[in-house]
Amino acid sequence: HSVYAVDKWGKDLIVVTDEGEIGLLNPLSPETPAISLPGILQDLDQRGIKAPMLLRVSSYLENEIAHINESFADAIARVGYKGRYRGVFPIKVNQQAQVIDRIVEFGQKYSYGLEAGSKPELVIALAHRLAREALIVCNGVKDAEFIRLAILSRKIGFNTVIVLESPREVDTVIEVYKELGIEPLLGVRVKLTNQISGKWEESSGDRSAFGMNTDQLVAVVDKLRDAGLSHCLKLQHSHLGSQVPDVNDVRRAVGEACRYFTELTREGVPLTHLDLGGGMGVDYTGEKKATENSINYTVEEYCANVVETVSYAMDEAGIKHPTLVTESGRAVVATSSMLVFNVLESTLYDAPSAPEVEPDDHHLLSDLAAVNGYLSAERLQECWNDASFYRNELRALFRRGYVDLRQMARAERIYLSLMARIKALVAAAEGETDVDDELKTLADIYHCNFSLFQSLPDVWAIDQLHPIVPLQMLNQTPDRRAVLSDITCDSDGKIDRFILSDGVSPSLPVHSLPEADEYYMGVFFVGAYQETLGDLHNLFGDTNVVTIDLRPDGGFDLLHEQEGDTISEVLSYVEFDPADCVAAFRKMVDEAISTGTLQSKDRKTLMNAYRDSINGYTYYE
Ligand code: PLP
Repeated sequence: HSVYAVDKWGKDLIVVTDEGEIGLLNPLSPETPAISLPGILQDLDQRGIKAPMLLRVSSYLENEIAHINESFADAIARVGYKGRYRGVFPIKVNQQAQVIDRIVEFGQKYSYGLEAGSKPELVIALAHRLAREALIVCNGVKDAEFIRLAILSRKIGFNTVIVLESPREVDTVIEVYKELGIEPLLGVRVKLTNQISGKWEESSGDRSAFGMNTDQLVAVVDKLRDAGLSHCLKLQHSHLGSQVPDVNDVRRAVGEACRYFTELTREGVPLTHLDLGGGMGVDYTGEKKATENSINYTVEEYCANVVETVSYAMDEAGIKHPTLVTESGRAVVATSSMLVFNVLESTLYDAPSAPEVEPDDHHLLSDLAAVNGYLSAERLQECWNDASFYRNELRALFRRGYVDLRQMARAERIYLSLMARIKALVAAAEGETDVDDELKTLADIYHCNFSLFQSLPDVWAIDQLHPIVPLQMLNQTPDRRAVLSDITCDSDGKIDRFILSDGVSPSLPVHSLPEADEYYMGVFFVGAYQETLGDLHNLFGDTNVVTIDLRPDGGFDLLHEQEGDTISEVLSYVEFDPADCVAAFRKMVDEAISTGTLQSKDRKTLMNAYRDSINGYTYYE
């Protein structure tokens, strides 16, 4: 199982057990042995909860919140920083009630708050009484309604900061202030010119969509001063980006943010909070390198770099150390969710035996079959070329009508049997062979019970890599290689990039599917962004979602179950009324009875079939 590199990316949370299964370690109880993930699935199955399923591990979420808050606290103590850390969780990264409620509840002891980037997100934040002890940071484009609610929320004890994104927003704030007579708590979003490398390069630097340049910033300060509100400007927000791969970029960007902070302070703006936005990355591949899907730093290093950089800059400028705020989302929630699904069937790209060529078959079939006679480890490339040539010629003849269906089927099977022998010779070879690259195109297709578009949208849209691994049989050598295809009818619905011990591979080593048992796959670190970015392609809805807590005794508690969408629910999302659909179907059934094409006694069977579907899960059952 070392091929799956679980020990690299598993973060001491995901491991392979002695029984060859994926196990979950409890970070809050390090002595407890790992609990088997297939065992959890079996238990849930007995309770009637089936895959595909998103499994949220609450203990992992708590662990990450503690990790970030405590790492900042440690860095602050070590550096002798005089300010505090008051993080906020950006709601957009995972808006699900189960997640937000847990974050607020568990974050309370760290005065960990929330970031809202829209009106609905602010409404969520303001429904959490515990968040009053922390910060609520409002980013994004804001109309008067948004600003009014943010200001009014101060009256019931919320520390709601309105981060000004543009000079125009200042006018609205001033108007609402005049209307309400309540002073706002304000922040200002400063655009950093430092470009940060990585997948989200565009979200930083000069051309990023949000934040103000120096000219606008000065205009905003002047406007606030004229309106007598400059004393309300307490927070500077400078978002670093997302999934920042290189920690030196963090230092550079934080250094630039500090320059603005010290200049604004010199201007007489009484800033007390420096908010560095999101960006702390997740090491999806476990490479520990500054690459798109990995990072070259730990949480501790990130925190230390931020604290040190701000500390030096403020000391140099003779300015009081501000409260540090970050809006890390991905690093807080990604690890806590995993997607599990079963493999439904496979399309194999080799065959154990070849059929006999028949006397009337086209002579190219005999040529194809003859390759078997000279196939050897020394002549792999030649045999590959010949087999591919004859098969392609036969396909061309089939298209023109010179080869019939049965002959073509024999040809395909002879070809696949040759591929089986080539694969076996490659497997037995020591080191690389001439056909290694060619063989990668010959992976099986494992058809899996999930929708890429619903559950892993970033894999489809931006080539995000997540660790993917079979959950069982890991003490048996994988005997096949596969790409994974989902159950949407879209050829884009497939996964063909996998994190393996020797790098990213176009196919995943897998086992021949067991006869009787389910073969489960797990996709890890899917807690950030995926759930609400997912869409309803082919009308596959939300999967079942289960939240569990790992117990110190090695068991688990089921905290919450959210049943996946029914067909009736997804129909209503696209504005069909399920009752109307039933009525329309019933009408056609009754018409068929009237015309005599259907017997009355069959009415119930048809109606039940339609109703069962409409009430059922959208995935394969
Ligand atoms: N804050 C702001 C303003 C953002 O735009 C984002 C995401 O891009 C975040 C926080 C969260 O970033 P991340 O999930 O990378 O920590």
